[in-house]
Amino acid sequence: MEFRDLKAQYRALEPEMNEAVREVLSGGQFIQGRQVTELEERLASYVGVRHCVSCANGTDALTLSLMAWGIGPGDAVFVPDFTYMATAGCAAVLGATPVFVDIDRETFNMDPGALEEAIWRTVRDGTLTPRIVIPVDLFGLPAGYGELLRIARKYHLLVLEDGAQGFGGSIDGKKACSFGDIATTSFFPAKPLGCYGDGGAIFTNDSGIARRLYSLKRQGASPADKYDHHEIGMNSRLDTLQAAILLVKLKAFDEAELDAVNRTAREYTAGLASCGSIVTPVVPDGFISSWAQYTILLPDSGKRLEVQRQLKEQGIPTAVYYPKGLHQQPVFRSTAAADERFPHTLEAAGRVLSLPMHPYMKEDDVRQVVEAILSACSHFR
Ligand SMILES: *Cc1c(COP(=O)(O)O)cnc(C)c1O
Repeated sequence: MEFRDLKAQYRALEPEMNEAVREVLSGGQFIQGRQVTELEERLASYVGVRHCVSCANGTDALTLSLMAWGIGPGDAVFVPDFTYMATAGCAAVLGATPVFVDIDRETFNMDPGALEEAIWRTVRDGTLTPRIVIPVDLFGLPAGYGELLRIARKYHLLVLEDGAQGFGGSIDGKKACSFGDIATTSFFPAKPLGCYGDGGAIFTNDSGIARRLYSLKRQGASPADKYDHHEIGMNSRLDTLQAAILLVKLKAFDEAELDAVNRTAREYTAGLASCGSIVTPVVPDGFISSWAQYTILLPDSGKRLEVQRQLKEQGIPTAVYYPKGLHQQPVFRSTAAADERFPHTLEAAGRVLSLPMHPYMKEDDVRQVVEAILSACSHFR
């Protein structure tokens, strides 16, 4: 069994995919071909925002967004403690300081109360200027934007939505990647919408920001003359091949894949309901997840190791996202707050386990995973 079966997806899309790739190869426009603009238009319309600017990966998407806002040394950027490194790295690489915020213990997303506390502490401390909040749509579930946006507005902070795992999710019909003042996503192959290499995109309704992003991703060139540079940018492009691949995948994602992962999630949750020692994922009312991961909580790290071992023996792969909080990363340890501020991150890091999940998963495979877990858990009592 595969954790995320990209080969099954290719088999399902093969004729269309081969044709799309062949068209790029024979057309010879490998950079900035027409597929890139077409994809940007389709993505903006899917998400429901005015502008989509494609780029080389999800990390660049975050960094370019902070650059467009002029974030740098002396600025505080609030990020959840329980996420992938890139969410904080984008701030640190520009000389700004990531300030870590504990998560909600049920959704694993940034906790609004902990955010407000972190803002107060930063203001009281007086060395950094609070500027940006980066909520993450972790595992495919949109963060609690109602509360998070209210707090951000109260303190005049801008919101950068890290939707690298969240593309396709929604709250009351409003799509992920439309909640932040800027939002980003990643097309890394294993993300909900993945390409066959690296890719990323940035979403915003602000035309001025979109223009600035367009320049920053092209070495800071002016829109009118690509050899006229008024500022330092990056080279960050989505190539035509990846755009062509994504056009095929976006159609499948919209027509079938998002529904398929939600069906698989329901099968898992129903199957695991009888086991009292497992906590299955919480999806609040009105929220839809794109299930980048299906992540359960086990009683403790020892039992998690035991379940992982037993599943592996039956050929079932699992993964731990994430084994520690960002405040525990060696690179941040000297500046981050102490463990006591992050009880929910520490608890999640010790107990989470992500199960095989993808749109082409068969019901029999789900049943096999469920039975293996139930059997492993029966030894707990
Ligand atoms: C994958 C990921 C990124 C970075 O995306 P890349 O395309 O790998 O650079 C950023 N944030 C989160 C939460 C991610 O999961």
